[in-house]
Amino acid sequence: MKPTHIEHIGIAVSNLDEAIKYWENVMGLKCYNTEEVKDQKVRTAFLKIGEVKIELLEPTSEDSTIAKFIEKKGEGIHHIAFCVEDTNKALKDTEGNGVRLIDKQARKGAEGINIGFLHPKSTLGVLTEICCKSE
Ligand code: ZN
Repeated sequence: MKPTHIEHIGIAVSNLDEAIKYWENVMGLKCYNTEEVKDQKVRTAFLKIGEVKIELLEPTSEDSTIAKFIEKKGEGIHHIAFCVEDTNKALKDTEGNGVRLIDKQARKGAEGINIGFLHPKSTLGVLTEICCKSE
C-alpha cells in the first residue's frame, strides 16, 4: 500500500451538534456537510483543514460500533483514514502482508467513497481506514 495522504481523522462524539459547535467556534473550522450513514448507524459531520478532513461520528443506535467505542474509551479519536488509489487493491496487498482485515471488500462510506477497515489488533492499536475517491 502506498497512501498519498491522510484523507480524514474520525472522531467519536456523543453529541454531533455540540461537537460541531466546538470545532467551529473554538477551532475555527467550517462544517460543510452532515450525513447519516445508515448501515454504520452513525451521523457524520465533515470539516476541512487543508487537505485533511475531520469526520465527526455520532452513534444513532446503542449497538453502533461508535456507541460501543464511546462506552469503552470515551469520546475521542476513533480512526485515521489513508487515501490510496484503489481501496480493494490496498486491502488485498495489506492482507498479503499478514494484516487482519475488518472489510475484505471495499464498501461505501460517508460521501460515497470506497472504504475498508484494517483490524486494530494488526495495526498496533490504530484503527486504520483505507479509502479512495476515484473508483
Ligand atoms: Zn472514516
